[in-house]
Amino acid sequence: MTKKPFQEDPLATRVQFIKGVGPRMATVFASRDINTIKDLLYFFPRKYEDRSQLALVKDLTEGNSASLELTVHQAFVRPLRGRFSKLLEVKAFDKDKQWMSLKWFRTYKGFEQKFEPGTKIIATGTVKVFGSIREMVHPDIQFDLEDDVHVGRIVPIYTEIDGVPTKTLRRILDTALSMGIPALKEELPSSVLQKHKLPTLPRAIQEVHFPSENHGKNGNNDFANFKSPAHQRLIYEEFFKFEYHILSKRLNLEKERGHALDSAKLAASLKSWRAKLPFQLTKGQENSLNEIFSDISKPHPMNRLLQGDVGAGKTAVALLSALALMDQGFQVALMAPTEILAEQHFQNVLKAFGVDTPVKLLVGKTTAVERRSVQALLDSEGPALLIGTHALIEDPVKFRNLGYVIIDEQHRFGVDQRRKLREKSFIQPHTLVMTATPIPRTLALTAYGDLEVSIIRERPPGRTPIKTYLVRGPEHGKMIEHIKKELREGRQAYFIFPLVNDSEEEAFKHLTSAVSAAERLANETFPEFKVGLLHGQLSSNEKATIMERFRKNEVQILVSTTVVEVGVDVPNATIMVIEHPERFGLSQLHQLRGRIGRGQFASTCFLKTDRPPNLPTPERLEVMCETEDGFKIAEADLELRGPGEFLGTRQSGALPFKIASLIRDQEWLFKARDDVMELLKADPLLKSPDSKPFKNYLENSGKLESAHLKTS
Ligand code: ADP
Ligand code: MG
Repeated sequence: MTKKPFQEDPLATRVQFIKGVGPRMATVFASRDINTIKDLLYFFPRKYEDRSQLALVKDLTEGNSASLELTVHQAFVRPLRGRFSKLLEVKAFDKDKQWMSLKWFRTYKGFEQKFEPGTKIIATGTVKVFGSIREMVHPDIQFDLEDDVHVGRIVPIYTEIDGVPTKTLRRILDTALSMGIPALKEELPSSVLQKHKLPTLPRAIQEVHFPSENHGKNGNNDFANFKSPAHQRLIYEEFFKFEYHILSKRLNLEKERGHALDSAKLAASLKSWRAKLPFQLTKGQENSLNEIFSDISKPHPMNRLLQGDVGAGKTAVALLSALALMDQGFQVALMAPTEILAEQHFQNVLKAFGVDTPVKLLVGKTTAVERRSVQALLDSEGPALLIGTHALIEDPVKFRNLGYVIIDEQHRFGVDQRRKLREKSFIQPHTLVMTATPIPRTLALTAYGDLEVSIIRERPPGRTPIKTYLVRGPEHGKMIEHIKKELREGRQAYFIFPLVNDSEEEAFKHLTSAVSAAERLANETFPEFKVGLLHGQLSSNEKATIMERFRKNEVQILVSTTVVEVGVDVPNATIMVIEHPERFGLSQLHQLRGRIGRGQFASTCFLKTDRPPNLPTPERLEVMCETEDGFKIAEADLELRGPGEFLGTRQSGALPFKIASLIRDQEWLFKARDDVMELLKADPLLKSPDSKPFKNYLENSGKLESAHLKTS
């Protein structure tokens, strides 16, 4: 180990003091957030290559990759066509005197001089076979055979860092390990390590970079699959730390002061308001309301996620709870992602609970006069419900007594927006966020891990299941017939298109656009029905008008882009045609389909693809035809797209995992979560000797890591 007298803690030593790393390379590392030796130890291999077995020339087969120990016979350089091109060819043989040819079309100056006849080398690369000739093009060469960093073992492959050759990187890692590991201290309680039979931190870090010899033998693929004990330990550690940060944040929030509501009054409010609804609440709605009421009658702010599939009836839960708070004098903000949706919520409130309800709408198009009346209502300091879009955050409206913030379809909003809305109040208001699509359990425990969760599993009774079909060219006629029949019976239909206007761009040329389709459907296909057109380029007044006409069944066919995706509720609509469904993600398709199946009539969804029948159906379209269960769809979507895409950029910052995968490593997440809960209960102040390593971690790097977590 190299001693650095100017830096007491080797782990904190800057990377530029490692042999072979100069200031230039240090800058490149810094751009990857690698500044210290410790950062390097946590720069994990992306994959592994098994070079533990040295092959013989006679065993080589075309296309395989192999490592060979060879003796150089001769190296020669031949010019190729083109002024600067030349070929370096090295003839070499193995211990059976079998010949091998190694070729380079590009080399650096002096490279060929290294191949003195008689030199022993190890060549690693992909094998090409031409008759009796075996060759490798641009193989990896190791000259110093005492050096076991690059060969004779399972070799780590790192994500490329610009301008740092793989071999250099491996060499630097090797040095960093020898400097850093002796100083590396365990950070997890030893009880959890024992419980799961996991190796210590120094051991795991060493192994994950440079697997010891007995790995990779006997067809053991643990390393390749990230299933080795070292991997499991580091994955578990990541989840454990993350869950600790997020759960202890939640505990702290639970200690903060909030508005405590009178629970007897809450129950009375609920009783009287729900009597105004034309339906009975479902079990899931009842339970969710109970959970919300139990939270808000405590003197700490609620922070709850309401999950339920499209059409599960989340709005009713939100509005009933809002009214119950208003009965105790509070003001409530309900933020929806689109004007259409805000407008719809607003109308629903007036319709269900009467025109005297102190409710106001605040969206982009709200006039200055109306805005003043909004402010006047809030200034009255009496109960009020303000429904709006993100205009609620941007507008200088001032709440006087904001007790409750509800965020509908929260995936459309970022964490910061939620926070800003809550900041409109002195005391932390209670918060309820609602999701459009269910969230897989892994994400509920991570990206949303700081929230309590309520789930509405069942849909309101009396709904008939939606049938979903994939429609290819020849079946088009049958589909149109079915739709005509439905329309004649008084039902309505949506036609969804990926584009507003026809596009000249190569990638979009073949796509039918909403505008041209609306014309064709109105004039040719369905001349006896009214067709409306809705898309994002319309003004919000135009959008509201067309939605209103569709709602009143003055328009039977609504041609639209995905603006209609979220939350729109027209129970009489029973047909959903999605054109070019391959252009949409799974959750989006599910959302779109959720616009139908909302009333007593049977509904049908057509995914109209223009893929030739000989091409396989994309998996997500198959999932759509197979199931209507939003929880299953969410799981499939997460698996197909990965968490970053699933959450969208706004939220994926919440997931800082370097080695753990929410898909591959689920079981470890659940274990870590349970263990953290246990720890928080048994030793909240981390006083026991067993908790000491973790306490030390928290007092050092843990603080920073926790501060960087982007949570609600
Ligand atoms: P989402 O959960 O997708 O936001 P909504 O709140 O828009 O669902 O509800 C979908 C439809 O179901 C609405 O028309 C609503 O009035 C109706 N609904 C809600 N709860 C019930 C219930 N318990 N029984 C019958 N219909 C209900
Ligand atoms: Mg909704």
